[in-house]
Amino acid sequence: MPIPIHDPHQTPGTLKRLPLRKAAALFIVAVCLCLSGLLYLQLEQTRRQDLANAQIASTNLTRAMAQQAEDTFLAADLVLTSLADWVEDDGYGAAQRPRLQKTFARRVQQLEQLHGMFLFDREGQWVITSFPDLPRGNGVADREYFRFHQQNASTVAHIGPAIRSRENGEWIIPISKRINDRAGNFQGVLMAGIKMAYFDRFFKSFSLDDNGIMFLGLKDGTLLARRPFDEGLIGSSLARGRIYQKLLPEAPAGTAMIKSVVDGVVRLYGYRQLAAYPLVVASASSRDTILKGWYERAFQSSVIVALVILGVGLFGWVFIHQVRDGERIEKNLRKAQRTLEQIATHDSLTGLANRRLFEQSLEIEFARGARQSSPVGLIMLDIDFFKRYNDAYGHVAGDHCLTQVAQVLKNCSQRKSDLAVRYGGEEFAVLLPDTDINGVLAIAGQIRRSVMDKRITHSGSPTGYLTVSLGCYSFIPSGNDSLEVFIQRADAALYQAKNAGRNRAAVLSLEEGVAELMRSDR
Ligand code: GH3
Ligand code: MG
Ligand code: MG
Repeated sequence: MPIPIHDPHQTPGTLKRLPLRKAAALFIVAVCLCLSGLLYLQLEQTRRQDLANAQIASTNLTRAMAQQAEDTFLAADLVLTSLADWVEDDGYGAAQRPRLQKTFARRVQQLEQLHGMFLFDREGQWVITSFPDLPRGNGVADREYFRFHQQNASTVAHIGPAIRSRENGEWIIPISKRINDRAGNFQGVLMAGIKMAYFDRFFKSFSLDDNGIMFLGLKDGTLLARRPFDEGLIGSSLARGRIYQKLLPEAPAGTAMIKSVVDGVVRLYGYRQLAAYPLVVASASSRDTILKGWYERAFQSSVIVALVILGVGLFGWVFIHQVRDGERIEKNLRKAQRTLEQIATHDSLTGLANRRLFEQSLEIEFARGARQSSPVGLIMLDIDFFKRYNDAYGHVAGDHCLTQVAQVLKNCSQRKSDLAVRYGGEEFAVLLPDTDINGVLAIAGQIRRSVMDKRITHSGSPTGYLTVSLGCYSFIPSGNDSLEVFIQRADAALYQAKNAGRNRAAVLSLEEGVAELMRSDR
């Protein structure tokens, strides 16, 4: 494992670590969101498709209903028209009655939808019916269709609200025509009763869900026939419902989703107003039935997607935890590596750099100095009379003393590139890159005074306090200088400082190859 070298000019790594955990979490969330989104889109599309198909089916059904209603009433209308012409031409006197009765009965036999045919006189009394016996009673002057023709000169066929036959109690829908005399005066009413059961059978021939509805109504909203059949509703008005209120005024045919105010069921309605007669047909299927298949498919797809999301989520959870564990292990390893680096390159007592780091740094600074032609300075420091200090105060106090001197060195070597080193037992060094001899000497003086200012009592020192001697040296490296010589020169200066009386900083001057003490800071 390479030991990092003290290189003050090297900037710390700025490359950011890829936040793998965040990326993984984001990826998993994105996958889950995509899956959910796709599921939603697919389900929404199939739901729309199912509803669109149901709309088509509903339109077709109402078209068939409209056609059937039109055919049913048209056939009766044609019969009424031909008979009305006959009655108007020949009258309905006693001579005509047997033939008319027979024709009525034959027509009723021929047309399945007909319940019976009736001719009423001006007062609403039965004159001729398709039945063999003529009913006796109050007549039909009170009936809606009779009053209608009494009051309307129109000879167009009229369809009235459903009634119970006074003949046999059967529910019928009356289609009727006014009979005039030659002068156009009201002479009576010709009426064909159409069996409600005929519509009922027709409605029942379609497969419809339990909540499904089919009905036939008058244009004014009066209900004529309905599936499911509900006697109580026959004759009631649908005029206030949405179909009559909103939809029919806008278009004669269409489909719409309507929530029933009666049972709360939402149904898809198809409706159509007949062109030939004032009739409206409508059919409805409950939305739940239309979407039954879709609900099942949606449930299955949702379960599958939920399982996949669960699987992806579980996988992601495990993955993220593993990444986190890996990161934690890596962090611990890095921390241990830093500790090891610190141990390998620093002194445990003082926290200063050790010789190893010092020598590596020296090499770097020599190369840099040579490249940039800048001076490299060095201070070698030795505590004065330290043996005596130990002898007087013990080794523990001596060690404490060393940490205090180390603190002074740290404080005085403030530049980032400066390096304070514990060189030996009570010997220290300060590497001062880009510092000429004057700078080195200034820092040395500062260190010396700071140590004295600590006022560490030292009975064995002539000053009474702990002092240090410092040797200073600075030169501009040329490229292949020896580290040892460099250190030796600072050491020689230190030797000079000791010889000159200690508690001082000395500078080595090299003239003619002879080391000479040139200056000191005292
Ligand atoms: P001077 O330097 O002024 O000539 O005298 P000195 O007594 O300091 O002599 P020298 O520099 O040779 O001192 C060496 C002494 O330093 C020996 C030992 O007692 C002490 N010493 C060296 N390393 C340590 C250490 O790690 N802890 C302690 N407490 N003392 C140490
Ligand atoms: Mg020494
Ligand atoms: Mg010493």
